[in-house]
Amino acid sequence: MQDNRIRKLVIVGGGTAGWMAAAALRRHFQGGPLEITLVESSEIGTIGVGEATIPTIRGFYQQLGLSDIEVMQATQATCKLGIRFNGWTREGQSFIHPFGLFGQDLRGVPFHHYWRKLAQAGEPTDLQDYSLGASLAAAGKFMAPPRNPTSSLGIFDWALHFDAGLFAQLMRRVAEDNGVRRIDARVTQVNLRPEDGFVASLDLHTGETVEGDLFIDCSGFRGLLIEEALGTGYEPWNDMLFCDRAYAVQSEGVGDPAPYTDVTAHSAGWRWRIPLQHRYGNGYVYSSRHISDEAALAELKAAVPDPLLFEPRQIRFNPGRRKRVWNKNVIALGLASGFLEPLESTSIALIETGIDKIKALFPDRDFAPELIDEFNDWSRREMERVRDFIILHYWANKRGDAAFWRDCNAITLPDTLQRKVDLFRQRGHFVRYRWEMFQPASWMAIYAGFELLPDMVDPALDGVDPKSLSAPLAEMRKAIREVVASAPPHGAFLEQYCRPAA
Ligand code: FAD
Repeated sequence: MQDNRIRKLVIVGGGTAGWMAAAALRRHFQGGPLEITLVESSEIGTIGVGEATIPTIRGFYQQLGLSDIEVMQATQATCKLGIRFNGWTREGQSFIHPFGLFGQDLRGVPFHHYWRKLAQAGEPTDLQDYSLGASLAAAGKFMAPPRNPTSSLGIFDWALHFDAGLFAQLMRRVAEDNGVRRIDARVTQVNLRPEDGFVASLDLHTGETVEGDLFIDCSGFRGLLIEEALGTGYEPWNDMLFCDRAYAVQSEGVGDPAPYTDVTAHSAGWRWRIPLQHRYGNGYVYSSRHISDEAALAELKAAVPDPLLFEPRQIRFNPGRRKRVWNKNVIALGLASGFLEPLESTSIALIETGIDKIKALFPDRDFAPELIDEFNDWSRREMERVRDFIILHYWANKRGDAAFWRDCNAITLPDTLQRKVDLFRQRGHFVRYRWEMFQPASWMAIYAGFELLPDMVDPALDGVDPKSLSAPLAEMRKAIREVVASAPPHGAFLEQYCRPAA
């Protein structure tokens, strides 16, 4: 019988996507005959941003045998318990989207119904006070989540803020140590097979030609293989997501780093502030339809509180997705597969799930169309669900002070999001689709932060006297306050565990 297995895998691009794929796939296929080659051009370089992650990143590197402390030391990382949204609902108002649960469900009824019932009875309380993750973040403290929490009040998770360039270097080390071959050269031509248009090989500026059976395109926004060679097509989402440019800049680290990402609403977009151990990452993501580049740059410079380390750098992007992430024998990963702005730090997480899909649906040289369809369908739905979550942040704003924010209120929601919002408002119910990255607790944080609350409380609570809820909910808040009081400041935690030994 003919051996149809893929023998040569070629990854194009050595940014975060390329090296994460190389490290993870080399490990997945360890000991087997698969050869993995990565081609990158140090002349072209990488995008050089991407510092905030979500908790799945920890599972990703742990699978590679790396511990939290090793990664934090290697990447100058700080801990991230969530995201603080400043001025998104209204100027001067903030809320935190934590990685974790709110309160305790009682008698099988979700906690938020009890919280609403108490509020409707005249005792409004802050949802954040029922989340250990959010409360630690607000207090500037950090501790690792308890291994065996005695109740859901102790359930939270954390991620990292890291130097993405250092993380890519770490991934490169893991990949090369395990046998990935690296070629530093510019791809000058992509050669297609005349019979079926599949990619056969790549010509490099050095004169070398690299052949492969399967190609992973991690070449960044341009999509060297998936778009420039195969003309796959792009589905823009700029009618729903207006931001299309960013200025990014690093600044000196001053004071204790916060254990959360700060995202602050501005006149035509929003600004991120990400603390690392030795500096801050800052950037203004904005809509070029609503503000000039000069004005955006000036707004950013005026807002960053510490000295800038260089002049801000502009990045242009087109929100949307590649129509087919897998086309013929090319799979796009990272920026080559599409882009959603970094508001919820999802790009690196989508690289992780892309790698999981490659592992789960790894083809042979027949390239069965069913595999490709499944991969594309899965990728599309996953990215659309993230898109919906991000759109919600814009659409639900109550600012009304600038054309950008008013235009956001007028966005026509995709049906999938409209259905979610309707069912939550009518019944406090969370619609869940397949392959969603964000769980109900995350949706709850955003609904509550934007005051999009259901009028109706679960009828199972009709027989509950609201006054009887006051004491148990106060107990929950107290239990959280006590844990927060005993936790160390985030800076002290970093000092103890993350500074490399001198
Ligand atoms: P790149 O870093 O662009 O790498 C492309 C690679 O392809 C490079 O190695 C380049 O040399 C190579 N290449 C290109 N052409 C050729 C050629 N002809 N020959 C050889 N090699 C070639 N993500 C997050 O998860 N969190 C964040 O907080 C976050 N913030 C972001 C902020 C902004 C403003 C932007 C734009 C993105 C942000 N991202 C964030 C996304 C994140 O930066 C990317 O997902 C991540 O860095 C992956 O990039 P990449 O590897 O796909 O592409």
